Amino acid sequence: MSIKVPGHEFDCGKLKDVLPDYLDRTLREQVCSEIKAHLADCEDCRIYVETIETTIVLYKHCPDRDVPEEIRIDLRRSLRASIEQKRRGEDES
Ligand SMILES: [Zn+2]
Repeated sequence: MSIKVPGHEFDCGKLKDVLPDYLDRTLREQVCSEIKAHLADCEDCRIYVETIETTIVLYKHCPDRDVPEEIRIDLRRSLRASIEQKRRGEDES
């Protein structure tokens, strides 16, 4: 159940849009707090973010100190692909 707060236009679609950047910690602090506020209200997105974060944490716990750049790019790419695929599925329904 999501609560509509006036002036708070952060919805599920926008969250999925900025999620790769959020997980990359490249977003502005203000956007991050908007995401956290949305996650507090929206269980769907919470589960979604947790699933993706788990994947990324697994990468970060690789025995290798640094994840090779090509894997990071690959991860970002598949992340975006799955997000776009999910969004497309929602549009069709
Ligand atoms: Zn949501």
